[in-house]
Amino acid sequence: MKKNDYVDKSYKLYIDGKWVDAVDGKTFEVFCPADGEKISICADAGKEDVDLAVKAAHKAFCSWKNVSAQERASILLKIADLIDKNADRLAMAETIDNGKPIRETSAIDVPLSSDHFRYFASAIRTEEGKAVMIDKNTMSIILNEPLGVVGQITPWNFPLLMAAWKLAPALAAGNCVVLKPSSLTPISTLELAKLLDQVLPPGVVNVLSGKGSYTGKCILEHQGFNKLAFTGSTEVGYSIAEAAAKKLIPSTLELGGKSANIFFDDCSWDKAIEGLLIGILFNQGQVCCAGSRVFVQEKIYDKFLAEAIKSFEKVKVGIPWEKDTQMGTLISSVQLEKVLAYINIGHKEGAKIACGGQRITDNGLDKGFFIKPTILADVSNKARVAQEEIFGPVACFIKFNSEEEVIQMANDSEYGLGGAVWTKDINRALRVARAVETGRMWINNYNNLPAHAPFGGYKKSGIGRETHKLVLEHYTQKKNIFISLSDDKVGLY
Ligand code: NAD
Repeated sequence: MKKNDYVDKSYKLYIDGKWVDAVDGKTFEVFCPADGEKISICADAGKEDVDLAVKAAHKAFCSWKNVSAQERASILLKIADLIDKNADRLAMAETIDNGKPIRETSAIDVPLSSDHFRYFASAIRTEEGKAVMIDKNTMSIILNEPLGVVGQITPWNFPLLMAAWKLAPALAAGNCVVLKPSSLTPISTLELAKLLDQVLPPGVVNVLSGKGSYTGKCILEHQGFNKLAFTGSTEVGYSIAEAAAKKLIPSTLELGGKSANIFFDDCSWDKAIEGLLIGILFNQGQVCCAGSRVFVQEKIYDKFLAEAIKSFEKVKVGIPWEKDTQMGTLISSVQLEKVLAYINIGHKEGAKIACGGQRITDNGLDKGFFIKPTILADVSNKARVAQEEIFGPVACFIKFNSEEEVIQMANDSEYGLGGAVWTKDINRALRVARAVETGRMWINNYNNLPAHAPFGGYKKSGIGRETHKLVLEHYTQKKNIFISLSDDKVGLY
C-alpha cells in the first residue's frame, strides 16, 4: 500500500454524528513531517462550528447520562475492539502524520489507546456511590454524576493516545465531548471519530479539527462547556485555566516537564543505559515526561557518558514508516529550529556537545526534520538547557555526588511530571522516589504509561491526573441525597 492509502485526502468536522464542512468553508493543510508532502486537507472549525458541536453534545447528554454504566462499558469495549481491528491503519496514519517510528505507533500508541477504553469500561463498573447512616434516622447517599459537556484539547506528540486518555474516562463517566486535536496532527483522531461513529449515539463525541489560535480560542470563549481538559504546553495551560476560571468550571491540565533521570553508581548497567535511551529518544524526545535531565553519579559519570555516546550513535534515525527505524523526525521546522537553538544555547552556556547536535539531511532525510540523538555533557543544573523544556532528543548530563545533592538538584525545577531513579539499593530508590517533587517516579524503568497507574504533574506540570480510575473524579460531580427516615418533627417551630 502507498503512504496516501492510509490517510483520506480530506476530512470534515464530526458534529452530531455527521461529517460536515466548516460553516464558513475554511480549511487547512496537513503535511507529513518526514518528507514535507501534503497528506490531507482538514476543515478548520470556527465559532459557529464550536457552537453547533456544543449544542449537539448537550442534546446528546440528555440521554447519554442515563445510559447505564453496563451499556456504556459495552460501548467502550466495542471502541477498543474497533481500534484493534483498525490498528494497522491507525498506526500508519499516526506515523505519517506525526513522524514517529512505526515500531512505536504499532507497539505502543495504538495498543495503549485500545487498552485505555478497555480499562475504563471495567473501571466504571467498579464505581459505586456510597450510603451512610448519619444517625439512626438519617441517611446520606453520595452519587457520582457526570459533569455535562467537556471541551478537550490535545497536543501533537501522542495524538491518538492523548485522545484515548481524554475520551475513555469522560465517556465512561457519562459525559459528552467536543474534542480538538492539534492542527499539526489531526488525522488519527479523525480516523478514531470514524470508529466512534459506528458505536456511539450522535453528538456524544464531536471532533473539531482546527488551529489552536482559532478553533482552540473559540472553545475557550464558548459558554456552553461544563469542564475543560487540556494536554499541551504550560504556556497555553495558563490560558485554559484562565478561561475555565472565568466560566467557573473545572479544568484539568497535563503540561510540560523537565524530568530527572537519576543514575546511581550501583545501577544495573545495561538496563540503565537502555533506560537512558528510552527516557530521551522515545518519540524523538518529544515526550512531556522525557528524562531530559540525566543525573549521573560521579564515580560512573565518565564510563556512563562514554557508553551512552556509543549507544546514541548506533540509533537508526530514518524514515518513520520503515520497520527498522528507531527514531523518526521532529514534528516541524519550528520544532527543529527550537531544538537546534537550545543545543547552541547549551554549548554557549559551557556544555560539551558529546554527540549529535546536528540536523540529518543525507540518505533521503533532507525533506524532513531529522536530528541526531544528542548529548550535552557537563551541564550545570542552573543552565537554561537544564531548566527549560527542549522537547527533542537532547540529554543534558549533570554530574552529582551524593543522594542529598541529587534530590536538591532534581527539585530545583519549576516542573514536576516524570522522573526515575536507577539503583539496586531498594531503600535508596524509595527514599529518592519519595523526595523528588514529581507526579510520576519510575524505579529502574522509564516511560511506562499503562492505563491503570495515575499520571500527572506537580508544580507547573499540571493540575489533576490522567489514566487510572482516579481520573473519574475529574469527570464526575458528587450528588448528596440526604434523607430523614422518621416521621417525627424536628421540634424547632
Ligand atoms: P500546545 O500547547 O502548543 O498545543 C496543545 C493544544 O492546544 C493543540 O491542540 C493546540 O492547537 C491547542 N492550542 C494552542 N494554542 C491555543 C490557544 N491559545 N487556545 C486554545 N488552544 C490552543 O502544545 P503542543 O506543542 O501541541 O504539545 C507539546 C506540549 O505538550 C509540551 O509542552 C508537552 O510537555 C506537553 N504535553 C504534556 C503531556 C502531559 O501528559 N503532561 C502529554 C503530552 C504533551
